Formats: sequence, C-alpha cells, structure tokens
Amino acid sequence: MKKLFSYEEYVRADAFADPSPDSLSKPEIYKLFDEANTSTCPFCKSSTNRSHENSLNENPSWLGGGCHYVNEYVSCCSECGWWRIHTYKETDGDIKGISTIVKNAVLKKYDLHSKDVPIRTLQKYLRQNFDDVIHIHDSQMEKLVQSVFSEHFSCEVEHVGKSHDGGIDLILVQSDSPTVVQVKRRRSLSHVEGVSGIRELIGATLLKGSRNCIYVSTCSKFSDPCNEAAAQAVDLGILESYTLYDFSRFSDVLKLTKSSNPEPWRKFLEI
Ligand SMILES: [Zn+2]
Repeated sequence: MKKLFSYEEYVRADAFADPSPDSLSKPEIYKLFDEANTSTCPFCKSSTNRSHENSLNENPSWLGGGCHYVNEYVSCCSECGWWRIHTYKETDGDIKGISTIVKNAVLKKYDLHSKDVPIRTLQKYLRQNFDDVIHIHDSQMEKLVQSVFSEHFSCEVEHVGKSHDGGIDLILVQSDSPTVVQVKRRRSLSHVEGVSGIRELIGATLLKGSRNCIYVSTCSKFSDPCNEAAAQAVDLGILESYTLYDFSRFSDVLKLTKSSNPEPWRKFLEI
C-alpha cells in the first residue's frame, strides 16, 4: 500500500528567563533562537525560506506602562513543505521576562487507505495520482469532495454523511436553496453507475426541501438511464438542477484546486 507523508504535527521547545543583568540564562534564550534559525530543512536538506513574519509592540494595561514585544516568523521548506515557527517575546514593566518558543513540524507517515490522512495531503497526492482514488477510505472520499467543492464553488459545504441522512453525504450552502450531494467511491475504475442511486437521490433531495442535487461517483461513466433520469427530473420541473460527476469530470475539478486549507502552520501562530 502506498504511503503518504504529511507535516501536520509539531514538537515545541520553550525557554524562559528573568532578564536581570546577572541572569545567566539569557544567552540560552538567544542560543535556542539561533540554533532554530537554520536555513536547511532537516528532512530533505533543501534550503528554507522565511514565508511569514509579524511583530507586535504594545503597552498593555496589565504591564503598568511597561512594554510587551513579540516577534514571530516561519521558515518553510519549498521542496517538502516542512516548517518551523520561531516566537520571541520580551516583557518589560511590572513583569519582566523573555522567552523563546520554537515549534517544529514533524513528518508523519500514513497509509493511502487510512481514514486519518489529512485531506490537504490526500488532495495534493490525488491531483497527480487520481487513479488511486479507488484505494482511499470511504469517509475520506466524502471529505475530499467536501474540500474540492468548497473551493470550486466558493461556498461552505456541510458534511452530513455520518448520519446517513437519506443517502445525503454533503450539502452545498450557497443560497436559500442548498444543493444536496451524494458521494460514491467505487472500487473499480471501470464501474458503470446504475440508475437506482440516481433515482433515490431525487427523493432524498425533495425530502430535504431542496431542488438541486449533485451525484459524484468515481465510476468510469453513468449509464444512459442515469443521464435520462437526471435530465427528466429537470425537464418535468421536479428539480431545478441535477448534475452528474463521473471519474473524469471530478478529477478535472480536483486538478483545478490548489490547496484545501491554509498553510498548516497558521493555526499555531501566536500573533
Ligand atoms: Zn524539506
């Protein structure tokens, strides 16, 4: 089974010190900061870039007129995506102190079929290797479609799959009329989708109070009765829209997406 790699987790190193002149630990703070300031990725040995930097200089009331200074920057490897956050803090006033916090991404390995692979990692991998979509976990397929559609349609996509809500997996929240989405990950790339699922989704969509739906399947194609049933539902005015995504149509949309999430380090920033 193929392995995927992701930098989702981190280890953190902290150092604090009393900055009085006779304190011996102050140099250690700078030492930690400097040691962390390497420009080489520890995993692939490529050079890193500073991809984000921010400073804060304030006089909060809790310091009684004192000053609170924070400098934070992120080093990223442009080759493999490894990252490190450096945060330096200095406080002067009623409370004195300096500290350095270094957070490192840690490389994590996943099986392609694991349900725990971060979607961002999976999405990036499948953009190049979409045939492997037949090996991913069922629940991952729903999350993948959720991620791809939320970027493609620029809207919020709700994941309802777990509740088995009448066969509905996702809901696109675009306007007053939400679009209902059914997702099927087939085990074979030559699978031809049959009409029963297409008909069932019409009922599930109406019961949900919606008149728009999308059926996504990793099938090679939808059978003729599928296309006819979807077109008929719209022609008869039962639904406003019924869109079918087969393997090739969905992979085309997937390839247009860039990244499902913002940079993974953003959630660890302090300022
Ligand atoms: Zn690297």
